[in-house]
Amino acid sequence: MGEAAEAAAAQPRLLGLPGEIRAEVVATQALGRRVGFVPTMGALHAGHLALVERAAADCDDVVVSVFVNPTQFGPHEDFARYPRNLAADLSLLAGRGVRWVFAPAVESMYPPGHATRIEVGGPAIGFEGVIRPAHFSGVATVVCRLFQCVPADAAYFGAKDWQQTRVVARMVADLGLPLTVVVCPTVREPDGLAMSSRNAYLSAGDRERAVSLSRAVAEAEALWSSGSEVAAIEMAMRACMVDRGVEVEYAAVVDAESLGPVSAGAAVALVAGRLGSTRLLDNALLPARGGSG
Ligand code: AMP
Repeated sequence: MGEAAEAAAAQPRLLGLPGEIRAEVVATQALGRRVGFVPTMGALHAGHLALVERAAADCDDVVVSVFVNPTQFGPHEDFARYPRNLAADLSLLAGRGVRWVFAPAVESMYPPGHATRIEVGGPAIGFEGVIRPAHFSGVATVVCRLFQCVPADAAYFGAKDWQQTRVVARMVADLGLPLTVVVCPTVREPDGLAMSSRNAYLSAGDRERAVSLSRAVAEAEALWSSGSEVAAIEMAMRACMVDRGVEVEYAAVVDAESLGPVSAGAAVALVAGRLGSTRLLDNALLPARGGSG
């Protein structure tokens, strides 16, 4: 490869129109190339970059989208103040095997008069679905729209948002969308806190307290493997967060796929809580132990 071609490969090309990115993806697939897609809301950190790295390892070409999706935020949530810095995101993505960054305007994703939403039931109903009632319908709507703009072979999501991965996988299965959903492990800070664009909102004191979410799910893993009952694990997770001043929204152990009661399959420990005005989530997957727990 010549120097100019190398430079082009290192620096992703920025596109904003659905038709443009779709044409690029379709054309590269016509050459037999496999396309990986990493949807994000920007404010990129090492968690996002791990998804990019996995996509680049699995696929010939990688698309990253950067779109702060208004329809997944409630009326009093942080849409307006959500961190946005496309220039910083582009420089973080340089040299990581990303061919295109798709950063559409809101009007390109939602044309005037837009009146269609996708409602997922099942795994979307509990937990985040209770606390943020329109959230998963906004997520499903935008992810479906993004998959139509970027008709990739595989899309990469983080286990950090476990319930979201189940909602997207359910939608892909139910609508027969022709792509594979790949779930990648949660990337954490050295003290265990799951990386999140929203961690930037935390004050120094809240940042210290925030570690209790990852401690809670780590404790759930230990208790689960030593055979503790679900109710005891849930109490221990709650206590771990309450002791550090977190306002607990939920602390539950449920079936990893359906998010209903624990079955013979794998389970997941889910926690959410508030520190000041910031909501944080975490989870840990728990291997099947073959009983009702
Ligand atoms: P967001 O920009 O927060 O919408 O996240 C975009 C994608 O990155 C989602 O699939 C998230 O689950 C994933 N992600 C966010 N934080 C992490 C993390 N700490 N580790 C792994 N994946 C993450």
